[in-house]
Amino acid sequence: MFKISKWFNNYQAPSVLMIDDLSDVYIDVYDREYKNDWGHLCDSDQSAYSYLQNLLFKKFPQIKVTFFTPYARHNVPNENSKYKIKKYALGERDEYAKFLTKLVKEHKHEIAHHGSNHGEYIDPKNVSTANNFKHEWELFESVKSGVDITLEGVKRFKDICDITISGGKFCGYKMRENSMEIIDECNFLYWSDRINFIEKDYEAHFFGKNRVISFPTNFSSNEFVRLSYMSGHPQRDKKKKILKYFQPLYSLIAYYNLFNLYKNGHIISIQTHISPSTALGTVQALNIVTDISSLTKIYNFLAKKSIWYATCHDIAKYFYVRENSKLSIYDNKLEIEFNNHKNYTDTTISIVHDKPFKLNDILSKQNNNLEVINLEIKNGINSLRLSYI
Ligand SMILES: [Zn+2]
Repeated sequence: MFKISKWFNNYQAPSVLMIDDLSDVYIDVYDREYKNDWGHLCDSDQSAYSYLQNLLFKKFPQIKVTFFTPYARHNVPNENSKYKIKKYALGERDEYAKFLTKLVKEHKHEIAHHGSNHGEYIDPKNVSTANNFKHEWELFESVKSGVDITLEGVKRFKDICDITISGGKFCGYKMRENSMEIIDECNFLYWSDRINFIEKDYEAHFFGKNRVISFPTNFSSNEFVRLSYMSGHPQRDKKKKILKYFQPLYSLIAYYNLFNLYKNGHIISIQTHISPSTALGTVQALNIVTDISSLTKIYNFLAKKSIWYATCHDIAKYFYVRENSKLSIYDNKLEIEFNNHKNYTDTTISIVHDKPFKLNDILSKQNNNLEVINLEIKNGINSLRLSYI
């Protein structure tokens, strides 16, 4: 039977690595520079990005990252810290802007929206973010002010880096009553609005009058080290002296959850941050350095599976095309009616069948136990000559 494949090229599940808070920031806490780097060192030898390349991408070059990137000076790294902090806005340093462009154009990762400055401290003298920080979308008093500041980011990435922003994420996953309307008004392709730990909530869905895709976040980078790493918080670390013995059991559950995401063809979105360093000197929960062995376990597991490695943008775009397409079969004709109401370009759909087939002159290829053709389609009726091989 012919049908539209759930995911591109009939892969069982798509997977993206979501790295939050890439920014032109450096917090001097550790001896090792890469641990202090939020993006300020760009792709130089001691940078966080080089660390990622050497410890993760060399082994798993297929990984695609969506970096969630604020465009103004990041406010979470607090100037009143006892540690030395450097921070700049996008546009203040050429080197950083070129680095972001390179991530997209050369390395094929994605830069996504993550607010202007990420939010504000309630008491700026207190460097702890716990209950002392209001995240960006919690602060917008009106839809208009939210839309203006959000769209300003889209414009700056375009003007400064020649990067097109198609989606983003609420800072700290925090919002208020007008936040979804702000995102809807901005007419993004997708928005990462929630952390999902309940399976029924794992699927992407549309929201708002502009039908923005709500993109799920459902797997943490630290699942395989969560109970064993030291955070720098005395209270938490005291508990971990005992909790660490339960890590093997916790890891088994993590494997089970990861397998379930895969088996059910859900988006596997792996959530982390760029740097462990914070203004308080404690370890930032979820980061590429502390969680590197956990990330390696995740990707070792996925490497043996049928995974489409893609950015949030790629996955959301496929979802959009799939949900707006209808397939019909007539004698020797296959038709796809595609309602491209947002006028996107590069819109591809994957058609599957259990036996080899041909559409016009394109031959199907096998992937994940079915014959598949990946087809670029246009708005309206796409009519193709169907034959069997
Ligand atoms: Zn953030």
